[in-house]
Amino acid sequence: MKQLLFFTLAAALLAASPGYGQNDKPVNVIATIFPPYDFAREIAGDKANVTMLLPPASESHSFEPTPRDIIAIQNCDVFIYVGGESDEWVNGVLSGVITSGMKIMTLMDCVEAVKEEVVEGMESKEEINSEYDEHVWTSPRNAKLIAQKISDTLSEVDAANADTYKQNTARYLAELDELDAKFQAVADSAARKTIVFGDRFPFRYFADAYGLAYFAAFPGCSTETEPSAATVKFLIDKINAEHIPVVFQIELSNGRMAAAISESTGAKTLLLHSCHNISKSDFESGVRYLDIMTRNAEALKEALN
Ligand SMILES: [Zn+2]
Repeated sequence: MKQLLFFTLAAALLAASPGYGQNDKPVNVIATIFPPYDFAREIAGDKANVTMLLPPASESHSFEPTPRDIIAIQNCDVFIYVGGESDEWVNGVLSGVITSGMKIMTLMDCVEAVKEEVVEGMESKEEINSEYDEHVWTSPRNAKLIAQKISDTLSEVDAANADTYKQNTARYLAELDELDAKFQAVADSAARKTIVFGDRFPFRYFADAYGLAYFAAFPGCSTETEPSAATVKFLIDKINAEHIPVVFQIELSNGRMAAAISESTGAKTLLLHSCHNISKSDFESGVRYLDIMTRNAEALKEALN
């Protein structure tokens, strides 16, 4: 009797709440970090719920999911993560929560061919480690591959809205093409092709896309914070020898090393934002990957002139 009452109640609830039925329920997308979150909401428009797991303004490399995050992942339809070193925690979490209908995507897989090419050309493990870069989204060309894959996945999970996803994707890919052209124009008209970072360097794909040479204190998203004196001297000498006007730092950095290099050389310190995450105020005002990258194009222009 009790069971019958439960079923009756559940049926009544189902009937009473629109959006609760299989077909009406909006798709739930969870992305670990900002770029795939932003790409997914560009493509989903108002047809899906898109959530970023990482709290705004927090450091992605030391992120640990809360029990609430794990429940959210368990209940989502599409889960997107980097698939690199910084979010290895995902492997442990996913094995426990994966459900049959859930689609799982990694950014690394979206640009798999690019990754294979990088690793193939390398001789030793040390070389792979120093050149390996999980920050595939920093190249707008890779952003297009990721956006297309998100679009295909959403259309598969939610076929009823596939036309909308396709339209939104076409518009967004055109905007990414414009961004790519903007960077290309900056690189083509530049007086120099070398950028210097008094910081970590998560921009390998970006630099490769526009034929830029780069010198940085640390590779990728190294957790090291104290460079050797020889490294700092090398960067200072490089800037002085080539009269490089800008030394870059990245977001969420203490900026100390870039400031020290700036002081010794007179080069101006500018931010090149790698988009791992954005500030709380940018998040609240709906700042997009396209906005951050457009600011980057301005900074790059100054650095290459
Ligand atoms: Zn990183």
